[in-house]
Amino acid sequence: MAKVLDSKIPAGPVPEKWKEYKAHQRLVNPKNKLKLDVIVVGTGLAGASAAASLGEMGFNVINLCIQDSPRRAHSIAAQGGINAAKCYQNDGDSVYRLFYDTVKGGDYRAREANVYRLAEVSNNIIDQCVAQGVPFAREYGGMLANRSFGGAQVSRTFYAKGQTGQQLLLGAYSSLSCQVNAGKVKLYTRYEMEDVVIVDGRARGIIAKDLCTGKLVRFSANAVVIATGGYGNTYFLSTNAMGCNCTAAVQCYRKGAMFANPSYVQIHPTCIPVHGDKQSKLTLMSESLRNDGRIWVPKKLEDAKALQAGTKQGWEIPEEDRDYYLERRYPAFGNLVPRDVASRAAKERCDKGFGVNNTGLAVFLDFSESINRLGLDVIMQRYGNLFEMYEEITDVFPGDVANEINGVKYYKPMMIYPAIHYTMGGIWVDYELQTTIPGLFAIGECNFSDHGANRLGASALMQGLADGYFVLPYTIQNYLADQAVWPKVSTDLPEFAEAEKAVDAEMDRLLKIQGKRSVDSIHKELGHIMWEYVGMGRTAEGLKEGLKKMHELEKEFDSNLFVPGTKEGLNVELDKAIHLRDFFTMGQLVAFDALSRNESCGGHFREEYQTEEGEAKRDDENYFYVGCWEYKGKGVEPELIKEPLEYEAIKVQTRNYKN
Ligand SMILES: Cc1cc2nc3c(=O)[nH]c(=O)nc-3n(C[C@H](O)[C@H](O)[C@H](O)COP(=O)(O)OP(=O)(O)OC[C@H]3O[C@@H](n4cnc5c(N)ncnc54)[C@H](O)[C@@H]3O)c2cc1C
Repeated sequence: MAKVLDSKIPAGPVPEKWKEYKAHQRLVNPKNKLKLDVIVVGTGLAGASAAASLGEMGFNVINLCIQDSPRRAHSIAAQGGINAAKCYQNDGDSVYRLFYDTVKGGDYRAREANVYRLAEVSNNIIDQCVAQGVPFAREYGGMLANRSFGGAQVSRTFYAKGQTGQQLLLGAYSSLSCQVNAGKVKLYTRYEMEDVVIVDGRARGIIAKDLCTGKLVRFSANAVVIATGGYGNTYFLSTNAMGCNCTAAVQCYRKGAMFANPSYVQIHPTCIPVHGDKQSKLTLMSESLRNDGRIWVPKKLEDAKALQAGTKQGWEIPEEDRDYYLERRYPAFGNLVPRDVASRAAKERCDKGFGVNNTGLAVFLDFSESINRLGLDVIMQRYGNLFEMYEEITDVFPGDVANEINGVKYYKPMMIYPAIHYTMGGIWVDYELQTTIPGLFAIGECNFSDHGANRLGASALMQGLADGYFVLPYTIQNYLADQAVWPKVSTDLPEFAEAEKAVDAEMDRLLKIQGKRSVDSIHKELGHIMWEYVGMGRTAEGLKEGLKKMHELEKEFDSNLFVPGTKEGLNVELDKAIHLRDFFTMGQLVAFDALSRNESCGGHFREEYQTEEGEAKRDDENYFYVGCWEYKGKGVEPELIKEPLEYEAIKVQTRNYKN
């Protein structure tokens, strides 16, 4: 263990050196002395809530996003809901219980103190959003309604049909718009951060690209916050929006911000299975469906074979021949086990030949029992848009009656399979959400903070909004407090010029390759390598092979890429090429971390380390730490630095969802 990282970095006094700036007249404008500017990169739920809150608190905020409107951030895709410990159902929920479930759900690899704070502020988030007018679902009597998500035996998920992210984002956007109107937030849409600018060891600004004109623009501020989402698209096929990328995070990593737990990648059990090889995106069917949908495969191999051959349909298989394998294996949680557990169980059934579509890579999610019990109307009220989305993509409506056996109606089941969905790893942050670069903060999915090795459903929105509304606006002030006397730096400093020159040179390099392969064709190949060698089941041998293949493919990218057009004006292919360059760095980082962690925990499953029943086998003696990686150069193995985990309130034990 070379270095040990502490979760608390004191903000510290302004270095003596800073006084030199005054002496050299390098300040922007002495009149601006007491104005504090903060750059917030991203307008997803984390970024929009942070920018709105900081604006309201009096800071001058520069807020950027790559889309044409903050409302189009990936957060809008979130379907199922957001957790909070309100205990409206009177089912024994509490802050402690939400804290406990989240730590357990993360397979005891999260930082305990952060998770407790998250659970504590969860209730404030709901109050804040209701005050903004977010139309959460309500009971007949007017109380906010709840449903259950995986890894919990209480009902604590607040939702707005299957469009929770959209409604929450509209709420955050309305607050953001107030601050834009008040002149406290200046919004830059269609701007992409390409690099962070470090001056005397502190983050003092960014280089961004105006995506419409291609021009590079310099922004300076007293602090920089990145809220740029996760790196799931490294795998090419994922449930993430097409624009999701990790360029900002990877640039911060290259500039010295450590990257924590990259191997913790979430594979969501309920996605529409891959169909053919022309897809560029996968569609999630929300976990909320597991409240009323039951997951099964046939008990008999001959039935599975008939389903795969298309000579039999799911609704022709009677109850006694169905294996509700989650209910069988995990009686206490049934269909609502956490995602990592449910995904592995689906893979196990399919690997044994019980998969149900023509590829053998799917299981059924069936609403027959709940429709028979509650009626189609009730089910449609809960999941109408998800049923419609499923029908649009597959031409099958899960509310259609297909068969009747012994007086029981059987409805057409959905077919689902695990897919890449969320990344628990991210930029390392301390308790104050500050990275290892002073003045650089990371919030939302792009930091590693609260989910350990596996995120529970409906906890990402909770974390993003906790960070944006309730944590960062306060913790950033500990840093800014001793910055108040130092005005923001000039963008004429050589550090800005150098960073801009480097970004420009990179674009020239990519454009000049003029090879034969499109960005997408290489990205797709990278995705195949990631899924096969760094995906659901990993082995030391496979990870080494994956790394080798990634290096070879990266060489192909550097020598045979074709990017049409020029730097000037809109060039989507060039932007995608920059993203792919960073997916290569990210993919290798995921593999290095997975290789270094000789245990299985949460979303990181090393096949060598499993119990006899195929469950993840942790090694707390040797791996009870946050794995933080320091960049050492392109193609060079990064250095592992460990932040030991300390648990005071919760007893670390083996996860059990059986009883
Ligand atoms: C289909 C789907 C359904 C989901 N459902 C749920 C759910 O029901 N409950 C739940 O809790 N979670 C859910 N999640 C997860 C959750 O939606 C995300 O984790 C969360 O929205 C991430 O928010 P964020 O603000 O961190 O990032 P994002 O929403 O990804 O926003 C990133 C922002 O950064 C900007 N950006 C990125 N790179 C740059 C750059 N270089 N320069 C400038 N701007 C940049 C983007 O423009 C965007 O504004 C779901 C995820 C998916 C894919």
